[in-house]
Amino acid sequence: MPRPRPNPYMFATWISRPLVGEKNCQWAPWFKANFRDYERVPSTFDSAKWNMEHTELLYDWAERLEARGCELFIERQNEFRAESPHSGMIIHGRPDIIAVGPDGRATIYDVKTGQESDSHVVQVQLYMYLVPRAQNSRWCDTTFDGGLVYADGKEKLIPAASVDEPFLTRVGAFMRKMMSDTPARRVPSAPECGWCDISRKDCPERAETKLE
Ligand code: SF4
Repeated sequence: MPRPRPNPYMFATWISRPLVGEKNCQWAPWFKANFRDYERVPSTFDSAKWNMEHTELLYDWAERLEARGCELFIERQNEFRAESPHSGMIIHGRPDIIAVGPDGRATIYDVKTGQESDSHVVQVQLYMYLVPRAQNSRWCDTTFDGGLVYADGKEKLIPAASVDEPFLTRVGAFMRKMMSDTPARRVPSAPECGWCDISRKDCPERAETKLE
């Protein structure tokens, strides 16, 4: 039985894909931001395989950064919770790697086993903005650059200046939608519902058949 959350709550990864239109159903993140303990559809995703591939790529990249003379902070060392002083919204995230170079510049990296996508850039930009603002952050005076690393070895840099006013305005508008008492738009489709863990009990419009 879903119970209202005391404060709206989101993972950074729930924000990035709807923001760039890679997910159209905004009702799913709205519901999960405002309710917990809902009945979940079991996942068919092979998480063990994904986790092993991701870990391999992460440590491979960590070794390369160390060879460049960087000091590294990895996954759980980077876990953060940032709470908005105005709305009480809590955003939770865990960047893969924070690297501090010999010149003192700090970069937040995420490693990706799949294809390149715009939502990856937005995910890292959110980390760049939120990590210095998180509760008890050791990084409160740090301006971060960002980076993405893919399995083919490609490194994509995300400059600190890309976290600008237009970006923050768009994020703010999306977050207000997520905190609204008015539910966000529900857009059922076989490809999206196939990856969604909200059952028909809470989403009667769920499309059950996955498109091939
Ligand atoms: S099951 Fe489909 S329509 Fe329902 S919340 Fe999830 S993605 Fe949206």
